[in-house]
Amino acid sequence: MVLDAPGTPLRAADLPAPDLRGGQIRIRVHACGVCRTDLHVRDGELPDPKLPLVLGHQIVGTVLEGDRFPPGTRVGVPWLGWTCGECRYCLSGRENLCDRALFTGYTLDGGYAEEAVADARYCFPLPAERSDVEIAPLLCAGLIGYRALRLAGDAPRLGLYGFGASAHIVAQLARRDGRTVYAFTRPGDEAAQSLALELGATWAGAVGERPEELDAAIIFAPAGELVPEALGAIAKGGTVVCAGIHMSDIPSFPYELLWGERVVRSVANLTRRDGEELLARVGEDPVRTEVQVFPLEAAEEALAQLRAGRIRGAAVLAV
Ligand SMILES: [Zn+2]
Ligand SMILES: [Zn+2]
Repeated sequence: MVLDAPGTPLRAADLPAPDLRGGQIRIRVHACGVCRTDLHVRDGELPDPKLPLVLGHQIVGTVLEGDRFPPGTRVGVPWLGWTCGECRYCLSGRENLCDRALFTGYTLDGGYAEEAVADARYCFPLPAERSDVEIAPLLCAGLIGYRALRLAGDAPRLGLYGFGASAHIVAQLARRDGRTVYAFTRPGDEAAQSLALELGATWAGAVGERPEELDAAIIFAPAGELVPEALGAIAKGGTVVCAGIHMSDIPSFPYELLWGERVVRSVANLTRRDGEELLARVGEDPVRTEVQVFPLEAAEEALAQLRAGRIRGAAVLAV
């Protein structure tokens, strides 16, 4: 499924199989998660995508040929597709910030396809348990959520703003840590609120409500007005983590909301270490993913439903 230009529908196309370069693997794609970032690229909210582009950066497939993995190995391909390995960020364990990084389904072709090619060093071998469609959302929703949770610090009372693909995984990880989870959704989004409660949230309700003081908040919804809202909900010393790649402008707010050593920070991309840690963690004790499965050729429909807020959990393309 090809994006020719931002703001236009994806179209089915037969593309020539890309040549395999050194260090790469060719993958038979079985499933690919649909991420809000795909929607931002599709809608032209992120600058300078490769064009034409195959979207998709939560690829689950089996290796056909190439480096590092024997053919038949089930692997996952995440958003971070390549880094330079030599800049100050790469050399200090922060490859997620590499200036020259390339991203799957954005500046590299991704997984809304029958086959994909990826740099083997950035792919993860996947645990054998669970189906392709169930594991796909871990590769971005799970990974970015895991990184956001880590950067939220040791907060016993955690607020999640926007309860979609990422939050529904983070809620389970946070509960295992013994944290109390509060899920904030759009007013009246009963599907998301009921899912949050099923997955262990102590409370689920509308943004703007204040059930309890929070120690940290993670904002998954791309709405800048949630930053002052979440700052107003957290205790002194708490952190508000903005987990999305794109957000509308943050309105100005009184300094009093930030005072008391409150912190606002973003989370950018992921490192390979994040992936290894999360997959080890869920390999021992699987998290449940709630998925809505679409066939590959319905990618545009999956994106439309995500845009409209009608996905409960995560959308995944089955290939
Ligand atoms: Zn670098
Ligand atoms: Zn993503």
